[in-house]
Amino acid sequence: MQNCFRSQFSVEEVECEDIEASRRTSSVDEDSIDLACTLSRSNDLGDSDLHHTPVIKMGWLDKTPPQGSLIFQKRWVMLDAQYLRYFQNEKEVYSKRIIAILSVTEVLNVGEQKFEVVTRNRTFLFRAENNTVREEWVSVLKETIQQRRSSMEMSLMNFSFTSGQRDSGVSLISKQGYLEMNGLRSKVYVVICADRVFLYGNAEEHSQGVGITYIEMNVGTVKSTDKRSFNLTTFYRTFSFLAESAQQRDQWVEALQDCVSRSLSSDVVAQKIWAVEANQRCADCGAPHPDWASVNLCVVLCKCCAGVHRGLGQSVSKVRSLRMDEKVWTDNLIQVFLLGNNRVNLFWAANMPPSEALHPSSDSEKRQRFVSAKYCQGKYRRYHALFGQQEALNKALCSTVQTDDVLETLSLVFCGADVNCYTGDPELPSPVSVAQHYGQILQVEFLTHNHNTGNFSYYESEKSSSQSGGLKMSDVLCLLVNPPGKHGYAHSFELYHDSGRVYLFGEDSSDKVKGWIKAIAKALVPSAAEDLVCWPFERVGRLRYTEGQSHHSPLLGWFSLGGSRLLLLLHGADRVENIDLRKIKELSMELEAGAVVLVDGGRSLRVEGDRRPDFQGWLSGLQQGSGRGDGPLDQQQLTDTDVPVIVDRCMSYITQHGLKSEGIYRRCGVNSKIAALLFFLRHDARQVRLIEEERQVDDVANVLKRFLREVGEGVFNGHQASLPWLHTTTISEMSERVSQYQALLHSLPRVNRATLGAVINHLYCVQCFADENQMNMHNLAIVFGPTLFQMDGTDNSAGQVVEDLIQNYQDIFNVDAEQFQRQLDMISHVIKAQKEHTKEGSPSPLTICGVYLERKEEGSELLVQISQEVSAEELVCKVLRRRNIPPQQGDYWSCFLVDDNQEIERPLHYQERALTIYFSLGKDCHLVVKKNCYMEAILTYIAGRVDVSRNGLIKFCEEKGQRGKGTFSRRLCVLSGLSLRLYKEVKSSQPERECPVHALKVYCGIKRKLQPPSCWGMTVLCEKAVRDTQQWYLCCESKNELIEWLATFMSLQVLEREGREVELTGPVLDARGQLAGCPVGSTCL
Ligand SMILES: [Zn+2]
Repeated sequence: MQNCFRSQFSVEEVECEDIEASRRTSSVDEDSIDLACTLSRSNDLGDSDLHHTPVIKMGWLDKTPPQGSLIFQKRWVMLDAQYLRYFQNEKEVYSKRIIAILSVTEVLNVGEQKFEVVTRNRTFLFRAENNTVREEWVSVLKETIQQRRSSMEMSLMNFSFTSGQRDSGVSLISKQGYLEMNGLRSKVYVVICADRVFLYGNAEEHSQGVGITYIEMNVGTVKSTDKRSFNLTTFYRTFSFLAESAQQRDQWVEALQDCVSRSLSSDVVAQKIWAVEANQRCADCGAPHPDWASVNLCVVLCKCCAGVHRGLGQSVSKVRSLRMDEKVWTDNLIQVFLLGNNRVNLFWAANMPPSEALHPSSDSEKRQRFVSAKYCQGKYRRYHALFGQQEALNKALCSTVQTDDVLETLSLVFCGADVNCYTGDPELPSPVSVAQHYGQILQVEFLTHNHNTGNFSYYESEKSSSQSGGLKMSDVLCLLVNPPGKHGYAHSFELYHDSGRVYLFGEDSSDKVKGWIKAIAKALVPSAAEDLVCWPFERVGRLRYTEGQSHHSPLLGWFSLGGSRLLLLLHGADRVENIDLRKIKELSMELEAGAVVLVDGGRSLRVEGDRRPDFQGWLSGLQQGSGRGDGPLDQQQLTDTDVPVIVDRCMSYITQHGLKSEGIYRRCGVNSKIAALLFFLRHDARQVRLIEEERQVDDVANVLKRFLREVGEGVFNGHQASLPWLHTTTISEMSERVSQYQALLHSLPRVNRATLGAVINHLYCVQCFADENQMNMHNLAIVFGPTLFQMDGTDNSAGQVVEDLIQNYQDIFNVDAEQFQRQLDMISHVIKAQKEHTKEGSPSPLTICGVYLERKEEGSELLVQISQEVSAEELVCKVLRRRNIPPQQGDYWSCFLVDDNQEIERPLHYQERALTIYFSLGKDCHLVVKKNCYMEAILTYIAGRVDVSRNGLIKFCEEKGQRGKGTFSRRLCVLSGLSLRLYKEVKSSQPERECPVHALKVYCGIKRKLQPPSCWGMTVLCEKAVRDTQQWYLCCESKNELIEWLATFMSLQVLEREGREVELTGPVLDARGQLAGCPVGSTCL
């Protein structure tokens, strides 16, 4: 078995090379576009999955390029009822060319063995092995074309389609247009049609019915990868597209996702409902195969009409999909629909003049007019004899529901009988209870769908008796209170409905709107959650969430948000929690999943994404509320002590690394670095880790100054409020000044007060080390006066205020003397330690460490003396110098961590501390300095990338105990942003395994005893916690693939190390630079 597997594998490899070779020569063929498959059609996926259209004939044929060149190319040709396609070879899934049968005008014999397939604009010349084969092809082609044409003629409204051509009378195209595609020089014309995506060279090709290929979307997933780009991933290949704008990208992604769900949706319900012939046409326009329905009006509808129905609101028409809303379709409801469109229309369209009838091709305006006339006004309905006599109608309803005549009930209800009327019998008070009592389940079903309770109804005016629309409170997801003036109303609010619709209500009177909001909010939330709505919130509603690391299915929680305050009532909780979003530890967006993770104190909450518009609102609300780097102080991300995180990060960095730095806060740093650092901090200060780097103290010091100088309103809360501070300097008596400062301090808002206190505390500490840094109180005050007051340097009083504040820090800020002393002691301890370390002249004690050159063998070991600070890069340099190895252009040396069996190895990041790694080495590992043979390929790959991410299929195996051979099975692996995720199936929405990038250690190679399916493997350690390390084995199909994965891992880890937000644009360039510095090139020596 095993041998068999191996040999099979090697065969595949050879063939891959063949493909590579032919791919290179195929550039001659300008008629087709090369779509390299990353994965060939293989045995473990049956063809039946992919080709629901049966193949009529297939085989090898030679084909000439259209330019008249005589070089024939071998092509695998496949014919089905709709298309003639040819492929690079028989394993390829995506064709090089696809020709719609309907666009073929003629098939002609030409000379020996050859035949032409003629389309309206182009002729394809094929050559068969011999004349017999040629005859077979020609006759079967002619036959297929004939059949296809006649089937189209027979039914102009046929459901089938031909690559989106309009000749079927029904357009199934949901979107089309040009997109850039990774790997192709020119744009492709992409057409989403039913459950397939077609690629054409251009729009003209599309109209001619001759394209490149199509992609079956039942095996696809669609994900946004960057601002304008997105991936369409199938088992075989990832198609990377680039749209013109982010908005365009969103539209494409949405259309493609619809396409996927269409292809996955079941037609079980549709088939049952279409069993009645009249249901095979839309009740309104007559379009074929209607797969929507209005469950209360009892009509089956096409997509266009369903859209119009949805516009009438839930209270008029409850629109559901036959394919996607499976849960709605109980057997009883399906039974009701077996009445059929024709019989229901005997009521709804009894008096419809033929001139007003709707057609499948009617424009949307006509459709709207018609649907509204038919169902809102009841213009064409058959009037019931009792019409206008409310009591009689109600009475008739109560007796009809005892029978099985649902049509009569429908007629009564839509002529005015009240579904909620009182029957007069306290035992059976409503028509529903009567129907139930008499066992009329279909009547119950019908009445239930027309039963409006807990509604929020709205009317055109106080006088109108029929409501214009209504919402069931249980269908409302979210209530949003708009800021005054939004949407042109002085006061307005929005309701987000479960169906994705948004309802806007506006009023000029603030009181009236407030009253409404209060009433609606109370009706919306459960009674235990009433605290959620008793404050000036901006939005309230329900969201699904998971808590902690648990993978339970999402629970429903109630949330209300206003500014930076989030109130929540989680599932099963008995009280409302209160979170200050500015102070949370982390708020991260999982862009692909569309979820948001909120870490506060010890717990994390993952709010599940949703494509509905209310979720977008929550996202931006949470983001805004969690602190904005460009806002005033009190809108910044804050520490527990109300100090902006930016200020805190900078000051503690200076405390650690800059107190002894001469001229700290006076020297200027590198402007570009300051700007970049401030940008990242403003974007999300919590995510930025300041790592010690040479001379960075001045940059950080300047970031702090620039932030304080630029922050909205400043620390003193605006120009007006700062004047009394400046004026205080005119008081001659210092004790009086101090009490004046105290009073002013007291009047500052909380965050300003805390920030000022923290800054002055910091400056006090800095001047304590004036002997070292030459910055005494006066010097600091000269710098910080204008900075804190956001003024130029002309007014000396600004500096005077700051000097006073530093000098009298303990008095003015009422500082606990003992606590302050502890702080000073700690700082002197740090400084003392640093002093000793400079006195010795060497950073830290040297350690002797054993390193191997090239590989572990006798004579290759070197003992190198290194200190704690030495990086992997420096270690490599030392080793090369010791062995007199001259630098060569294009050589990339790295330090590797290698296991003793030399089966797996990990190149160290050039900044990694070699000694730390050395000490952490287990018994069975060692350090080797050698050339990094992948580096050049990695750099080339990265140079051509626009984003740092990769996804694709990979063979996966997991370490379980010490058992021998592993089982490798296929997984979709997605590596992007901050994590590595493995999905069991391309369609899965939940990853099977997930690990943050920072916790990953990636080794090349896999232990042989696991018998990996190829030699291009990686061992991935996921260190989530000290005692929780998982080992995963990922195996690629080719060296190139391995290199691409390694390159992506490395780039992401470089970004991660830099503490960058990976989602920002631009970091790839930096990663490139960093990686270029990663190997030891000639510059180092
Ligand atoms: Zn219709």
